[in-house]
Amino acid sequence: MNPNPIKFEQGPIRPPNEATSLLLRVTRNCPWNQCLFCPVYKRRKFSLRSVEEIKQDIQTARDIANDIKALSWKLGCSGDIGDAVISAVLNDPGTDESYRSIAAWMYYGTRACFLQDADNLIMKTDDLLAVLTFLKEKFPEITRITTYSRSRTVIRKSVESLRRIREAGLDRIHIGLETGYDPLLKLMKKGVSGRQHVEAGRKLLEAGIELSEYVMPGLGGQGMWREHALATARVLNQINPDFIRLRSLRVPQRVPLYRNLQDGSFRMQTDDMLAEEIKLFIETLDGITSSVTSDHIMNLLEEVSGKLPEDKERMLAAIKKYQALSDIDRLIFRVGRRGGAYRSTDDLTRDPQTYRKIKALVEDVRSKEGIKGVEDLISGLVDQYI
Ligand code: SF4
Repeated sequence: MNPNPIKFEQGPIRPPNEATSLLLRVTRNCPWNQCLFCPVYKRRKFSLRSVEEIKQDIQTARDIANDIKALSWKLGCSGDIGDAVISAVLNDPGTDESYRSIAAWMYYGTRACFLQDADNLIMKTDDLLAVLTFLKEKFPEITRITTYSRSRTVIRKSVESLRRIREAGLDRIHIGLETGYDPLLKLMKKGVSGRQHVEAGRKLLEAGIELSEYVMPGLGGQGMWREHALATARVLNQINPDFIRLRSLRVPQRVPLYRNLQDGSFRMQTDDMLAEEIKLFIETLDGITSSVTSDHIMNLLEEVSGKLPEDKERMLAAIKKYQALSDIDRLIFRVGRRGGAYRSTDDLTRDPQTYRKIKALVEDVRSKEGIKGVEDLISGLVDQYI
C-alpha cells in the first residue's frame, strides 16, 4: 500500500470499552506512577508531548485515513471501509501498526477517539484546547472524545477551565477511583483521598463532562474488604457518576504489591470472597443513577451490570445465583469463565458437553494436585489477561 509507511504514536492501554476507538497518545506514561497495584507504566518516565508533535500525529492519522479511503475507491468499494478494505490493509505486509489501527477504527465505525496515556488533564488547559480543536477540525466525523485523568489533577483545574475543555470536544473522562477508603488509598499509594475523589467527580459533572469511575474489587484484600466496599460505595453515592466500572485486582510479579503478597502482609480475596464484597458494594450504592459495568476480563461476574436504581436487584440476583451454586459448579464456572467458555452462570446448563469437559478437567486436577491445583489453574487462566 505504502512503500514508506508513516506512523503516529500510540500508548500501551485504553479502557475496554475504547477497544474500537481511534487511539492517539497526547502524553506519555503516568506522572504519578506510584500505585502499588499498577503494572502499566512502571519504569517508564512520564513526559508531556508538545502541541506541535501531537498535531503532527493527528495529521498523520488523517493522512492514513485518507489513504485508506482512496484504497476503498480503488478496490471498487465506493469509499466504504468493509471486509474487502480491511483485509487488503491487514494482509498487506507493507502496512504497519498505525495503518492497521486506523483501518480497524474506520471498519468498526465507532466515530470515537480515546486520548492516551494516564493523566491528560495535566496538560495546560490552552494546550489541551489546541489539541482538541485541531482534532475536531481534522476528524469532523468523530462524535466522542474521551481520556483518562487523576482526581488530584482534576481538582487543580477550575470548573470554568473544565467547561472550556468540554466545549472544545472532550466528552468523557475515565478516573481510576479504585477505592473510597482513605487508609487503603494511602496504603496503595494512590496519592488521593476519598474527599478529593468526590471533589474531582463533582467538578467534572458540573462542567458537563461525562464521568466514568473505575473501582477495583479485591483491592482491600482479606483485611479491608468490608471497609473498601462500604467506603467506595459511599464516595460514589456522593458523586453519582455516569458510569461505575468494575476492574478486579490481579497482582502480577512486576507490581510492588506482589512483595506484600509474598511477605503475607496482603492476602488476596478469593473469587467467592469477591462475590460477597461486590454484593455489599452494590447493596450500599444508593440514591444514584449511574450505569454499572463489569466489562473487564478480570471480573468473574460479567452480569453485574445495569442501570441504577432499576437494575440493582437484578445485579444482586446474579451474584446470589453464583453463590447458590454447589462447590463443584462454582469451580466449573470459574474455570469456564476464566478460560473463555462461559460468560454467565446460565451457561453451565446451556451446553452439557462443555460442562462435562470442564468438570472432568477440574476433577482430574483436583485428584492429582488437590484444590490448590485447581486454584492455580484458575489463577493461570486469569493471569494470561494481565
Ligand atoms: S495513577 Fe493510574 S496509571 Fe498512574 S500508577 Fe496509579 S493506577 Fe497506574
